[in-house]
Amino acid sequence: MRALVYLGPGSAELQDRPAARLVHDDDVVVEIVGTGVCGTDRKILLGRFPARPGVVLGHESVGVVRETGPQVRSVVVGDRVVVNPTLYCGWCVPCRRGATNFCRHKAGTEVGVDRDGTYAEAVTLPERFVERVPAGLPFRSAVLIEPLACVLSNVQAASVTFDDTVVVLGAGPIGMLTALVAARRARRVTVAEPDGYRLERAREHFAHVVDVAGTDPAEAVLKTSGGERPSLVFDTTGTGLDAALRLIDDGGRVVVMGFDDTYTVPLRPLQLTNRGIQLIGAGDYRADIFPVAVDLAAELGAPRRPGTGTRSGAGTAPILERLVTHEFPLERYSQAFTALGGLTRGDQANGTNGANGVNGTDGTERPPCYDALKVVIRSHPGPVGADGWPVEL
Ligand SMILES: [Zn+2]
Ligand SMILES: [Zn+2]
Repeated sequence: MRALVYLGPGSAELQDRPAARLVHDDDVVVEIVGTGVCGTDRKILLGRFPARPGVVLGHESVGVVRETGPQVRSVVVGDRVVVNPTLYCGWCVPCRRGATNFCRHKAGTEVGVDRDGTYAEAVTLPERFVERVPAGLPFRSAVLIEPLACVLSNVQAASVTFDDTVVVLGAGPIGMLTALVAARRARRVTVAEPDGYRLERAREHFAHVVDVAGTDPAEAVLKTSGGERPSLVFDTTGTGLDAALRLIDDGGRVVVMGFDDTYTVPLRPLQLTNRGIQLIGAGDYRADIFPVAVDLAAELGAPRRPGTGTRSGAGTAPILERLVTHEFPLERYSQAFTALGGLTRGDQANGTNGANGVNGTDGTERPPCYDALKVVIRSHPGPVGADGWPVEL
C-alpha cells in the first residue's frame, strides 16, 4: 500500500509498504479515507518535533473497518470510524486512575510519530482506539473529531463558566474549535488573529474578531473591549503567553495550547501570585474525552437551520465542514503542506498546532502566510462526489 514515510528532518516520501494486516486478536484494519494535516506533522517535517525516521506520518483520520480480529466486539467490517491516535496501555499507575494521557508506556505508541500513522491506504490498531462515526455525520466533519478532543480537554481544564469573557489567540483550526466550544458557555468570546484569510473565516462564525496584524495582540484586543480584560485567555498559537499575561484580568486563567519548542518567555512568579493568575496546561486528552468529542462533532457537524448558527453568507453548511478548506490526494501531499505555509525554514515562526504564531521568539512580528484552515490528505483513491470525498465505500 502507498504510505507517506518520514525519512528525517526536512524529508518524507511516498513509499510502497506492506499492506496493513491483523497482528493481535483485538486488532482492526481500517481503510483510511482521509487524514487532517496537523501542525505537529509540519513541525516533524521542519525538524522541530521529534519523530522516528521510517514512520508513516498522520494521525487525525477517518476510515472504514475492513478486517477485525477474533476478539473484536465494538465494531464490525464496514463501520465508518474515527481513529483515536492517543494510545495508552491501560494498566500502568496513571492509566489505572484514568489519566491515560500520562500513560507511562507511550514510547512506540504515538500514531504518526513513532508508530505507523494514517497518511496511508490503511492502518492497524487495537479496537479500543477506533470509535464509530455517528450516522449522518460526514467524514469531512468527522475528520475534526481528534482536534476537537484536544480542544475539549483544554476547555475542560479551564472550567469555563457562564460568567467568563474569553479571548482566543489564533484562528487556525484549533483556535476556531476552541472558540466554538468555549462559546457554548462563556458570555463572550473574542478571537484575535493576524492573518487576513483566517480573519475572514473567523468573522463568519464570531461576532468579536480582532485583527492583530502588525500590532501587539494584547493592546489590539483591549482597544476593542474598551479596556475590559478577559477572565480567560486561550493561547492556541504556542507563542502568545507573553501577550496573554498582559491581557488577562486579575484572578483570571491563561491556558497554553499549541506547541512551539523554540518559544520562551520570561516569567515573574510574583506576577501570578499578586494578581492571582492561574496558568493552565492540559496535556493530551484522556481516553474518556474522545467519545465526548464524537458526540460534540455530531452536534457541530449538523446542518444549520437557515438563519441560525452562522454570521454571514455561508448558507447552511455545518460549521465543522466549513473548517475543512482544502483537500489533496495522498500523492499531492506536498501541496497540502504548502497550503499551510510550506516547509522551508523561513516558515518556522508560523504554524504552531495549526494556528498562527502571533509574535516571533524575539518579539518581532512575522508575516503570516496562511490561506487555509484544516487541510485534509485523502488516502482513498475511489471516485469522489461534489464535495471531493469518496462516494462509494
Ligand atoms: Zn494533531
Ligand atoms: Zn499506561
